[in-house]
Amino acid sequence: MEPQATENVADALRRAAARLKQAGVGTPKLDAEVLLMKSLGWSREDLYRNPERALRDVQTQGFEELVSRRVRAEPVAYVTGSQEFWSLDFRVTPDVLIPRPETEHLVETVLEFLPSRRGPCRILEIGTGSGAVAVSLAKESARAEVWATDVSAPALEVARENAARHGLGDRIRWRRGDLFAPVRGLSGWFDVLVSNPPYVPSGEIAGLQRDVRDWEPALALDGGGDGMGFCRRLVRGGVRHLRAGGMLAVEVGAEQGADVSGLFQAQEKLHRVGVRRDYAGLPRVVTAERMPGV
Ligand code: SAM
Ligand code: GLN
Repeated sequence: MEPQATENVADALRRAAARLKQAGVGTPKLDAEVLLMKSLGWSREDLYRNPERALRDVQTQGFEELVSRRVRAEPVAYVTGSQEFWSLDFRVTPDVLIPRPETEHLVETVLEFLPSRRGPCRILEIGTGSGAVAVSLAKESARAEVWATDVSAPALEVARENAARHGLGDRIRWRRGDLFAPVRGLSGWFDVLVSNPPYVPSGEIAGLQRDVRDWEPALALDGGGDGMGFCRRLVRGGVRHLRAGGMLAVEVGAEQGADVSGLFQAQEKLHRVGVRRDYAGLPRVVTAERMPGV
């Protein structure tokens, strides 16, 4: 029997947006559209061109299931399984942080530094998660030799898959382990050390938005008491693993610019400390260079 036509695209979107709004979702209309696109396999253009198209029951049901997940605060990116970053599509699962647009500043910071180095450029990313930063860097720079680490095995699996998806499977060396443990022995080796560390102070985790707090990995967010625990370890290990003139680039929380700069300045083997702001004018990336000598 042919499934009965029940609702058209425009009606389904209106109903879903109302449900999402009532559940406290911040962008109900947009989310409803993305979820309907996902469940129909449509582009945004398909959606706008076919508001009157009748949905079949099975399509309505599939859409309802996705909307119900969003109603329970599951982030859209986990529901659809993908997130765009640096104009590339990344697979994401609840094992990895959803890459944020602000983190593109971290990629830009590294790309601007590369021309100052000649020859191959060895880049180490600590805490790669979905692999968004490492993959974007490898994609943009043929000279980049990228090492990427994470303590989470399932995260590294997602990262590997993302590299393969973008044809970069053989450009990135994946290593699992705690901070610098996977690159022990590579002292003075890297031109760039880049990281978006977990930086949320432990006491602030409970107050995060539900989508983040209940769904994203705590391991990717919790930066210890003052949020800077990971960063302190990055500085110590960074000094050891960077070549003279190499750069350390670390993403920071909006309120951490001054503290992290202070941390970098207090390390006698680092100099040229700088803070890069995001489009909202907030400190986003703190950089420093490894001094020549001991
Ligand atoms: N680089 C990705 C991005 O920018 O979207 C993910 C960054 S996420 C804020 C931090 C990552 O650090 C997580 O993937 C987490 O698993 C990893 N991580 C946490 N503790 C770690 C540790 N001790 N050693 C290595 N990686 C760690
Ligand atoms: N930017 C993330 C947030 O909005 C925090 C990510 C991190 O700790 N690096 O919660």
